[in-house]
Amino acid sequence: MTKRVVLIGHPVAHSLSGAMQQAAFDALGIDATYELWDRAPMALADTIAELRGDDFLGANVTIPHKERVVPLVDRHTEEAGATGAVNTITREGKRLIGHNTDVPGFRVALDTLVGKHKMPRAAVVLGAGGGARAVVHGLITEGFQRIIVFNRHLHRAEGMVKHFGKSAAHMELRAMPWHESIIEAELAKAKVLVNATSIGLNADVSPIPAGTLNGDLLVLDLIYSTTRLLRDAAAAGCATADGELMLLHQGAAAFTLWTGVPAPLELMQAKLAEARAGGLRSAEGEPTGEPVAALPE
Ligand code: NDP
Repeated sequence: MTKRVVLIGHPVAHSLSGAMQQAAFDALGIDATYELWDRAPMALADTIAELRGDDFLGANVTIPHKERVVPLVDRHTEEAGATGAVNTITREGKRLIGHNTDVPGFRVALDTLVGKHKMPRAAVVLGAGGGARAVVHGLITEGFQRIIVFNRHLHRAEGMVKHFGKSAAHMELRAMPWHESIIEAELAKAKVLVNATSIGLNADVSPIPAGTLNGDLLVLDLIYSTTRLLRDAAAAGCATADGELMLLHQGAAAFTLWTGVPAPLELMQAKLAEARAGGLRSAEGEPTGEPVAALPE
């Protein structure tokens, strides 16, 4: 029987994940299809229930469902529980297991950006959605001692900080209101800046003014392209990275969870590049509402 893996999101019309996962199944002779399922939040519970069928290996979950899926599966891994977000589901009999492979994906991206230098201890994170949760968990477990989170809607950042209360008890994790002067002051005290908002995804805008960046920063944008933020940061002398490695490695980790075999990384990376050149975008990066052109309120 051909096995099925589905990407559940809203929308998911075009997907880089589809290109890399299907190519990986085909290359390793695994009889499986990767399907894109566009499901509105109302239909989510029924959709997750369908995955209990024998033909499913599992699923990926993306915008806007990562947090809503948490109570719909039977068990979580440590990373899914800690982040409160699920991006990958596997099946054990009729039971569904929720994983968060964005976390290992983020770790690879961070390690690569930091390179041979000592792992920094202070970071600023922009955003408080599912991606930001993986970032904050990754930073805490890498030993960061100070993480400041800025988000357009402060209450969401505060909710995230509260969620991490226990695991962040030994360090300083704070939500702060989105004011340029506060962001600039915090960036002066930090070494790592991560953009986990979708600002810059659909329009050539940066979440923060170029003048707030100092050349000592390591800047990671989760968006899978050279955004305005990354160009401004490079011009200021910062080391920069986009979301490619995170996307690749979250996908590779999910592939191994579904199939039990190592992912063909080089092939998947080539397929990502090919799909991107062909105009596809990550379902991670699909807008959930109107185009992101506005700066934070
Ligand atoms: P969510 O929808 O959960 O969160 C979106 C975030 O962006 C929120 O913090 C939201 O703020 C902020 N935001 C959106 N529009 C605006 C705006 N106009 N002004 C200010 N803030 C805004 O999405 P995710 O967390 O899942 O994804 C966020 C980004 O990270 C996306 O661009 C996605 O592509 C990327 N990503 C990349 C991954 C990779 O593998 N490379 C993995 C996961 C995510 P508010 O809460 O105030 O609405």
